Amino acid sequence: MRCPYCNGDNTQVKDSRPTEENAAIRRRRVCEDCGGRFTTFERIQLREIVVVKRSGRRVPFDREKLSRSVEVALRKRPIQSERVDRLVSGLVRQLESMGEQDVPSSVIGELVMEALKGLDPVAYVRFASVYRHFREAADFQEVLGEIAGRVEPAQEAGTATPSQSGAEAAGRKH
Ligand SMILES: [Zn+2]
Repeated sequence: MRCPYCNGDNTQVKDSRPTEENAAIRRRRVCEDCGGRFTTFERIQLREIVVVKRSGRRVPFDREKLSRSVEVALRKRPIQSERVDRLVSGLVRQLESMGEQDVPSSVIGELVMEALKGLDPVAYVRFASVYRHFREAADFQEVLGEIAGRVEPAQEAGTATPSQSGAEAAGRKH
């Protein structure tokens, strides 16, 4: 493994340990040329996935990028990092099991929204606002309505305002 700091080839594994509930191996590496330390992850990859952007551009699927966008949505939310890892792993497995090499970025966006909806309503709204390019308050109301709609069947229709049922939806996650 090439050193990311000096591009030297003399790097050594100092420590390997399972992580993400044994779904990955984390290796601490050190460069003998510059002393730089870095970490690599070994994960099972069932198949190669290519993301097709809105522009039509095709880029290799990047788990780290997906993970970062999920983490941004979950910033300062009371969700443990293991749960975030599980969510990301679950998303990757879903993508891999689709059986298609080319996956439109819109499909990935919808999967992330679906996963966040179940995990944390605030993160869901955050992600949706970026992903769907919200421009006005009505856009937020629509997505809040979707969250409210999720718990509606268990309630008397028409008695709860959207904001009340939204708060209830948030409370039920605990
Ligand atoms: Zn180095």
